[in-house]
Amino acid sequence: MAAQPAAPGTGRLLVVEDEPSIRILLESTLRLSGYEVSSSATGHAALAEVERFAPELVLMDVMLPDLDGFEVTRRLRTAGLRTPVLFLTARTEVGDRIAGLSAGGDDYVAKPFSIEEVLLRIEAILRRTRAAQPRDDTGILRYADLELDRDAHDVVRAGHHVDLSPTEFNLLAYLLANATRVLSRQQILDQVWRYDFAGDARIVETYVKYLRRKIDRFDPPLIHTVRGIGYSLRLPRDHPRAGER
Ligand code: CA
Repeated sequence: MAAQPAAPGTGRLLVVEDEPSIRILLESTLRLSGYEVSSSATGHAALAEVERFAPELVLMDVMLPDLDGFEVTRRLRTAGLRTPVLFLTARTEVGDRIAGLSAGGDDYVAKPFSIEEVLLRIEAILRRTRAAQPRDDTGILRYADLELDRDAHDVVRAGHHVDLSPTEFNLLAYLLANATRVLSRQQILDQVWRYDFAGDARIVETYVKYLRRKIDRFDPPLIHTVRGIGYSLRLPRDHPRAGER
């Protein structure tokens, strides 16, 4: 009974569900619909898998054997991760709980759910979150007082030109294209160094250090270390414009 969405789904989804029959149903249906899917059966496993798999959306059962789905989501938010969460729950008071967690994309479907309903919600959330991402079809990426022009290979911070090496430039472009998100060292390594670099993620730390010396000699600092995960380019949390893109 796999429902076919209007267009094949694209994107990486994490299914967090301890009930094997529901987990397998969701995994297989979502794969058939075109998504790349991973799954976890516990809250702690889900936290680790979000870091490893970097999903665009998490389908989160609320009643899990260890941490409940709300607590897992709260921990993701505390770590700075804004990945939208679609809760799967029988609870009726879920709306209020989600309001306290929302990162702009959160929603829920009540159990027992129809798989068609789940697919529609997934598509709606992905459309919303993708539309909110910066477009770079002009070749220009901006965040706060930082601007990077891919075509002119030019970087300006607070009105000052900043000279970057090609690797520093590519690293900054990737951070800027994903401003406010947390990127793991491995994600950065894969995206910036591609597969022609067989080294380890320590090269990322080295280049982030170079980049900070050039970009963050202006206030406020924009490149932040997220302990145990990686880096995020954003305004400091206490900055009056920190909630803006
Ligand atoms: Ca459950």
